[in-house]
Amino acid sequence: MNAQFLPEPVALPRDRLSRPLRDLRLSVIDACNFRCPYCMPEDRVADGHGLDSASRMDFDEIEALVRGFVRLGVRKLRLTGGEPLLRRRLPELIARLAAIEGIDDLALTTNGSLLGTHAAALRVAGLRRLTVSIDALSPAVFRRLSGGRGDVGDVLAGIDAAQAAGFGSIKLNCVVQRGINDGEVLPLVEKFRGSGHVLRFIEYMDVGSCNGWLREHVVPSSELRERIHAAWPLRALDANYTGEVAARHAFVDGAGEIGFVSSISAPFCGDCHRARVSADGRLYTCLFAGQGSDLRGALHAGPDALEGRIAGLWSGRADRYSELRGRAPATTDGRSRRHVEMFLIGG
Ligand code: SAM
Ligand code: SF4
Ligand code: SF4
Repeated sequence: MNAQFLPEPVALPRDRLSRPLRDLRLSVIDACNFRCPYCMPEDRVADGHGLDSASRMDFDEIEALVRGFVRLGVRKLRLTGGEPLLRRRLPELIARLAAIEGIDDLALTTNGSLLGTHAAALRVAGLRRLTVSIDALSPAVFRRLSGGRGDVGDVLAGIDAAQAAGFGSIKLNCVVQRGINDGEVLPLVEKFRGSGHVLRFIEYMDVGSCNGWLREHVVPSSELRERIHAAWPLRALDANYTGEVAARHAFVDGAGEIGFVSSISAPFCGDCHRARVSADGRLYTCLFAGQGSDLRGALHAGPDALEGRIAGLWSGRADRYSELRGRAPATTDGRSRRHVEMFLIGG
């Protein structure tokens, strides 16, 4: 059913900067089969790390939670992790979430390594959009960037399997780090322009507390755009919708489009309508939040308690970390405080 025919909730919450709640990014698992050094460095996050299954929300809890968010205005839902394809019976969960009236957009972000096996089942279950992370085409660089665990061939095969299963324009995310994989940018563009998929270059962010982020490692989007433009001329496109995080550009020769996510060089907090929930049911109102707020207690007290809890937390939100970055008193490495780890809330 179209969202406009849904009964309006009593009051849709706005935060202290007047931002509504529109998107939910939900982690279904905190474990991962990769150890990307910018997210989950292998020397800091041991094998076997992760919540026990009793600490993770089960499917009934997840469905009830999502229904609560939808009543408060959420229309877009993205499943993430850790690596979401490691969650057992994920297609069953997707089918339940796809059936919720009011969700206009159901998407999933994955490292793609297991897509070859799961793409068709995800599609049949009702998933409509996919984002696959791919930081390099060179097998050696890719392997290093997966913490020695990933094979770029599996990811490329996964993308092909997803396309064959009916996923149209797949978003491909590449986090660029200077001196690590900036040499992969042009080969990635060459490979995917004209494919119908949309490559997006993401500025390396100071998320979490264990990746050793340094500003020198960030490659500003403007620099990448110039480099790509010199090889394949680009022209800027309008955003598809308010709050779209990627700045869109089309290839002048008609070979599709690419995007740039510039959280460091051009923060977009003013349009941030996104809540994040970890696999154990904690709400984070910002990617850079220090800690989350438990939703499970309210969830078990019933829909009214859940809505009241979410609305109360959202109404108190004033986060705009990326806009303030560098202004707050910093520690020696340029960070002002501890942040939640990316693999707990999924980007
Ligand atoms: N495991 C899945 C994957 O890698 O696609 C989903 C979770 S992962 C945390 C979601 C996204 O966050 C990925 O595209 C990843 O590249 C991105 N990411 C992780 N750490 C990052 C960082 N420090 N800066 C920018 N993006 C980051
Ligand atoms: Fe795993 Fe994704 Fe983090 Fe890489 S970015 S370690 S694939 S959760
Ligand atoms: Fe949203 Fe926080 Fe990112 Fe700003 S820094 S865009 S408030 S998640």
